[in-house]
Amino acid sequence: MKAIVKYKKGVKAVRIEDVPVPEPKAGEVRIKIKAAGICGTDLHIYHEDGYPTNPPVILGHEVSGVIDSLGEGVDGYSVGERVTTETFYHTCGRCYYCKTGKNNLCIERLSIGSGVNGGFAEYLVVPAKNLHRIPENISFEEAAMIEPLAVCVQAVLEKSKIMPGDNVVITGPGSIGLICLQLVKSAGAQCIVIGTNKDKDRLNLAQQLGADIIMSSSDNNLTESIIKHCNNIGADVVLECSGSGAAANMSLDIIKKGGMYTQVGLAGSPISMDIDKLTLKEVVFTGTFAHKWQSWERAIKLLSNGTIKLKPLISDVMPLDRWEEAFDKALNGIGIKYLLTP
Ligand SMILES: [Zn+2]
Ligand SMILES: [Zn+2]
Repeated sequence: MKAIVKYKKGVKAVRIEDVPVPEPKAGEVRIKIKAAGICGTDLHIYHEDGYPTNPPVILGHEVSGVIDSLGEGVDGYSVGERVTTETFYHTCGRCYYCKTGKNNLCIERLSIGSGVNGGFAEYLVVPAKNLHRIPENISFEEAAMIEPLAVCVQAVLEKSKIMPGDNVVITGPGSIGLICLQLVKSAGAQCIVIGTNKDKDRLNLAQQLGADIIMSSSDNNLTESIIKHCNNIGADVVLECSGSGAAANMSLDIIKKGGMYTQVGLAGSPISMDIDKLTLKEVVFTGTFAHKWQSWERAIKLLSNGTIKLKPLISDVMPLDRWEEAFDKALNGIGIKYLLTP
């Protein structure tokens, strides 16, 4: 089968290869892939800027498809069912984090698309216990984006404390920022979305998806104007989705005293921040990594009942052999979400 493989460590060491179709072991299923999303993480891996991988490994962790074969002892699922899968392949079940219900932080966690083979391929093998069924009214394309939606459900609804009427600021109008925006609006908060002057189209889409105010980081008096829109004291919550140092520092300036800062985006390399501002303003600062079972179930409900719209974020669906073009577009900030299909 065709697969997009990170074949060794190193910048851009990625190519399309012909590899054997994997066989499901006991407790596993094989999924015939219908769609797989290109994520910021794939771009970090492409650029070898610090995200850990085990090459040679097939990339891709945002997938949807149909069960095509069952390993020994799998029950509760049958061939032909439409499914998506959580991104971890292995967690130990024994470590402190697994025991306390945080398997996203398991010390042995191995994820598909980086630690083990992922979904930029015709077939993918995963443990049956990681599957979630796709409701009838969700397309395969949308279902491939349940993973980033689950990331945002954890970031916005589980990690951040957002109350109806709060002023929330999102920096970075990429797919994660635009999904977070919709969750913030569903929670009844006001939402300001900030991008750079390269993000004109993304900011317009943010407005269509419910942003109350959109701004560019190059606007004059940006901080003053954001604070003014946030009851003249600053944002209750900032969701930093860009991973840029400039956005992180601006966030510390526009957050209110006692406000909450959630770092959602990855920077890829160290950035410098004035941490005195955290102390002097008593900011509550948190990170958020991946998702847990409950984030997935809530994500699927919110997509199925129409609260969250993912179709407007899909820029193009391309065959696997055009992966390089899709990666380049995503890297250059053209469009929002690219999906690959075998
Ligand atoms: Zn992802
Ligand atoms: Zn563990």
